[in-house]
Amino acid sequence: MQLAKFPRLSLAHLPTPLERLDNLSKALGVDLWIKRDDCTGLSTGGNKARKLEFLIGEALERGADIVVTHGATQSNHARQTAAAAARTALDCHILLEDRTGMTEHEYRWGGNVLLDVLHGATIETRPSGLDMNAELEGVAARLRASGRKPYLIPGGGSNPTGALGYVNAAMELVSEANSAGLCIDHVVHATGSAGTQAGMVTGLAGMHSGIRLLGIGVRAPRDVQERNVYHLACATAAKLGMDGLVREEHVEANCDYVGAGYGIPGPDTLDAIRLTARTEGILLDPVYSGKAMAGLVDLCRRGAFATGETIVFLHTGGSAALFGYTASFNLNEDGVVRSADARIEEEKT
Ligand SMILES: *Cc1c(COP(=O)(O)O)cnc(C)c1O
Repeated sequence: MQLAKFPRLSLAHLPTPLERLDNLSKALGVDLWIKRDDCTGLSTGGNKARKLEFLIGEALERGADIVVTHGATQSNHARQTAAAAARTALDCHILLEDRTGMTEHEYRWGGNVLLDVLHGATIETRPSGLDMNAELEGVAARLRASGRKPYLIPGGGSNPTGALGYVNAAMELVSEANSAGLCIDHVVHATGSAGTQAGMVTGLAGMHSGIRLLGIGVRAPRDVQERNVYHLACATAAKLGMDGLVREEHVEANCDYVGAGYGIPGPDTLDAIRLTARTEGILLDPVYSGKAMAGLVDLCRRGAFATGETIVFLHTGGSAALFGYTASFNLNEDGVVRSADARIEEEKT
């Protein structure tokens, strides 16, 4: 798999560390490691940095002068796209979709939205329920009419170009594990717009790694998610000249941990975020990695992994969104917001 055939801009701090989670391993009774893609370094890190290396590389090669993309209000993809564009001569325009209906000030203006603005991106908002790719096309047409040369990035940066970033991650992970003398049985991570999983599927299959990959869904039902990943992985393999590499059995998603819906963290997600923060000093996020860890914790407790198997949690980042979700952490069991003082008192006991 020769990734050097494709235009690429170096944006991420690579390779990201592969570390053992001693305390969580003990707590869950498994051999658990973490691949720190939360440490990719681009505006607080995360998985979109790897995709953007290839997407921005292509945008520059095509002579674009502005990148246009979309995401939910607290989109990590939008934030990292804005940061990547800031490193180049490209402008950045973002469409933010109100996918959750959350009205808190922090959610609408804090966290990732604050960073979008700091990186100099311009923002338009949209209500939920629209065809966001059509909205993106509409904005692109407007920009072209005014003489601009837009480069369109789909939601999550998930197309075959972006997925190359995770073909690279799969090769990096296997190489690190080989150097460390570590034999990996499973990789588990959050899956949304499917580019991360599609790239990993393609890379792991291309190396005949034998590693099982499980995506924990954050939005779509299982059949839809697996179909999206499969189609994108096939297209990614084709881009690499490896038609027919990816088979349906390479694609496995578990969508039992979506809870009330995209971007809405349930009690299991908040617990998984607290557990990881308190046992390992590592920050997860309320939309993606927190749900993936909630799934992993539950699967471990149900005995889904055989004794002695090694699991790698691929941390896809997202902690900037925590600062858009302060209200979620102040809820008591009845859904009533507690004061910070009451919370601190309670947590002392
Ligand atoms: C976008 C994102 C994901 C999901 O990756 P996809 O490639 O969209 O499936 C997971 N975690 C975080 C923190 C993300 O921002």
